[in-house]
Amino acid sequence: MSNHMFDAIGEAARPGATFIETLDGRVWTYDEMLATSSRLAATLERLSVKPGDRVAVQVEKSPEALMLYLACLRAGAVYLPLNTAYTIAELDYFIGDAEPRLVVSTPDAAEGVRAIAAKHGAHVETLDDRGGGSLPQLAREMEPDFKNAVRGPEDLAAILYTSGTTGRSKGAMLTHDNLLSNALALRDYWHFTAADRLIHALPIFHTHGLFVASNVVLLSGASMYFLPKFDADEVLRLMPKATAMMGVPTFYVRLVQHEGLNHEVAAGMRLFVSGSAPLLAETYTRFREMTGHAILERYGMTETNMNTSNPYDGERIAGTVGFPLPGVSLRITDPETGGPLGIDETGMIEVRGPNVFKGYWQMPEKTEAEFRPDGFFITGDLGKIDAKGYVHIVGRGKDLVISGGYNIYPKEVETEIDQLPGVVESAVIGVPHPDFGEGVTAIVVRKPDAEVNEDTVLKGLKERLARYKQPKRVIFIDDLPRNTMGKVQKNVLRESYKSLYSGG
Ligand code: ATP
Ligand code: MG
Repeated sequence: MSNHMFDAIGEAARPGATFIETLDGRVWTYDEMLATSSRLAATLERLSVKPGDRVAVQVEKSPEALMLYLACLRAGAVYLPLNTAYTIAELDYFIGDAEPRLVVSTPDAAEGVRAIAAKHGAHVETLDDRGGGSLPQLAREMEPDFKNAVRGPEDLAAILYTSGTTGRSKGAMLTHDNLLSNALALRDYWHFTAADRLIHALPIFHTHGLFVASNVVLLSGASMYFLPKFDADEVLRLMPKATAMMGVPTFYVRLVQHEGLNHEVAAGMRLFVSGSAPLLAETYTRFREMTGHAILERYGMTETNMNTSNPYDGERIAGTVGFPLPGVSLRITDPETGGPLGIDETGMIEVRGPNVFKGYWQMPEKTEAEFRPDGFFITGDLGKIDAKGYVHIVGRGKDLVISGGYNIYPKEVETEIDQLPGVVESAVIGVPHPDFGEGVTAIVVRKPDAEVNEDTVLKGLKERLARYKQPKRVIFIDDLPRNTMGKVQKNVLRESYKSLYSGG
């Protein structure tokens, strides 16, 4: 059997063509990608990394960091990227959990990392965002003729930790087949070809920037502009040269606030994709007015790669995440009984297909609990399917508010609040309440100088929502807490306001 993912990448590689261009004008051709990943794979082998061993990587985004991912695929090692924001204490947890053979860190952080790695029996090498460090140094001594390790489709290619939005991050085990099947499905669904030039401003420790963006480009023989992080000025400067962009909703929020966004600058673009968190309808509409482009929203998660996408050719509907991708089965079930639900009924989203992961690393019981006997994975997301087949995400199961015995879906309340004059956005959470179990609580961001207060919000909602859905309290804050992927951290909000009704 073949080394699935990299065999496909090797076949799609276009000798001589540009693969990556960085902001400072460095260019990586596909030949260089093949040679560098080969040398790095040989280096891994020399460092005693065997097929199946984990390689934990916590470095700044750079083409070299991506080459290390490719080298792991070639060497049969399990690539394990870690969020660059993790502190040494968090790293201690992840290294202890993942038990990697090798940890790759930045030269700056290496000293602190070494003590942790030693404790867990791992070896440390370094890599910086300019291609310096001990690992590239070693790689330079290698010949670019690495023979890819033999790997089957069921063998692990990567372990990615989930974002930790609802609790402690879990390691999702992803196979070569998971990555390859999903990247091919997305490439074809979104019509990617060698002529595409993607604006890549996402981090590469997360499924969105690593798999969705980079794998799709690699399997199309396309090229990408690599930005260390999102910067609206830089993105708008690159846009006339690019054809596509993948981003999180906050990218689009910042773009529509920028005076440089217009029809002309986006004229050569054919695709704007959004995912990882809900895109506000207002952002979608504003972006369309300013550029003529309908943002294509899709839905996925670390455990399942991408599940759904709005259509490339058909109608893209704001507030929906489109249809299941080819090969993916998606159904809605009753969260209590697991029984099937009908059109427009809200319940648990379950998915099955070649995109779905092998299980949580070191958590066999949790893995078993999250799969149905017929192989469907219980995503933890609530949603519904409408009469036209579009999937709507209603929120996370863990964010459901139960007040006075009623189920309240925060998104329904948030949508109403967000339409009130003077409101920018809102997050609705359940806070322990002595009478109701949980009290519906609205955390609201208002526009500068807007005359909005608790009374006006409550009055505004009176006619629009059943009484049990109306917030007991409305609290104003400057910004909603968000993680690096732009996800609202409701657990942070719940913690901040946990004593609101108990006076503690
Ligand atoms: P954790 O599982 O550790 O709590 P997380 O679920 O945020 O963190 P990810 O795997 O990064 O970790 O995110 C997947 C989740 O992001 C999905 O389950 C879903 O809740 C949300 N999501 C992704 N795309 C969309 C979208 N287009 N609209 C709404 N929510 C989305
Ligand atoms: Mg999750």
